[in-house]
Amino acid sequence: MSDTTPQLTLHDSSSRTTVPFAPLDPENVRVYYCGPTVYDLAHIGNLRAMITADILVRLLRHLYPRVTYVRNITDVDDKINARAHANGETIDSLTARTIRDFHADLAAVGVLPPDVEPRATHHIAEMIALIERLIAGGHAYEAQGHVLFAVARFPGYGALSGRSPDDLLAGARVEVAPYKRDAGDFVLWKPSEPGLPGWESPWGRGRPGWHIECSAMSHRYLGESFDIHGGGSDLLFPHHENERAQSQCCFPHSRFANHWVHNAMLLVNGEKMSKSLGNFLTIRDILSDTPAEALRLLLLHAQYHSVLNFTRTGLDEAKQTLNRFYRAIGDLPPDETDPVPAEVLAAMCDDLNTPRALAEMHALADRALAGDRDAARGLRASGRLLGLLGQSADAWFRAGASVDEAEIETLIAERLAARKSRDFARADAIRDDLAARGILLEDGPTGTTWRRA
Ligand SMILES: [Zn+2]
Repeated sequence: MSDTTPQLTLHDSSSRTTVPFAPLDPENVRVYYCGPTVYDLAHIGNLRAMITADILVRLLRHLYPRVTYVRNITDVDDKINARAHANGETIDSLTARTIRDFHADLAAVGVLPPDVEPRATHHIAEMIALIERLIAGGHAYEAQGHVLFAVARFPGYGALSGRSPDDLLAGARVEVAPYKRDAGDFVLWKPSEPGLPGWESPWGRGRPGWHIECSAMSHRYLGESFDIHGGGSDLLFPHHENERAQSQCCFPHSRFANHWVHNAMLLVNGEKMSKSLGNFLTIRDILSDTPAEALRLLLLHAQYHSVLNFTRTGLDEAKQTLNRFYRAIGDLPPDETDPVPAEVLAAMCDDLNTPRALAEMHALADRALAGDRDAARGLRASGRLLGLLGQSADAWFRAGASVDEAEIETLIAERLAARKSRDFARADAIRDDLAARGILLEDGPTGTTWRRA
């Protein structure tokens, strides 16, 4: 990092404060994110987590020479078993299709793939090894073919999510089972009946609980301690609390994750998204009639740890913003070497402050639209950092051809102002840009009118 590079700060869920980010090894920043359980199409709440990870990793790659980003795939889970059964298909066919769809949906919205994407079913041996270690250390016990983690044996349990033991029980909606010593004890391994996925283990044929897979895969690819663990706020408890308990009991001198990054929930029209409310939106639902880049931009409207409200109006605003940014970039030839303007980098280093970064990009667009080519280049370089503005203006406008009346009126006013300030090049550029999008301007004695070509 050069002297002028701003210090990255991140809101750390564990300490519940915003802290400077200090990598364990600045030569290789290590990040783990919990990926999808693959039984259904990803929804826009899932996407918010994936986009938060994406902008974080893009920024880390900008700041540090190397980043190792691991995002797992949960391909063994009771929801998968139930869905495959309901669909009348094999588990392999359901998980393979869902993984393909997940990759395609994320690629469409510009989410870059992780460096390693381990699948739980390929790491059963590593999970068994950790469970054996937990039993040997007195942190887990076997009962009726199950292996359970004994929460009472880990004094730090609850510290990550900031819950008292009573809250923990209330929040976990724990399954009461006769073989549990404590109601809060959770499953590391459970028996599999014939017909369900299972692997041989010291405790008989069975399958892992959910939490142990992330402890096993993060250890395998990132080591005992790594820099950042992230996911949606819904994962904080019990999933991340349990991951941390398992890993720190296996490796008592480790930190496990040094920073915990959680994105807040996404609401749809002010309400929690749920199938019962009928407001459950998959990425595909949105992309059927909306440019993918507009969806991505909308998800950056709020800083990641603030609640984000998804609305159709918000999507339209995102489209207008992109129309404006692409107008500002115009026919600038692509150049990957343009530096990211300091004010945009500072905003992103301020705990991924995307609203502030977007405000800075609007200021750059103002200058670019007034003819400042350096500002236009800075705008496009900023877009690269946020995973935006990756296509040519021409391609954007051809794909998103429809232009609404409010925008036309705005452009007519901008063109009038340009002419008044004798910036005829700018005035002509606006007229040509609209013509390319099928809107013809006519100047008459009472002002400018327009019609569709
Ligand atoms: Zn996980």
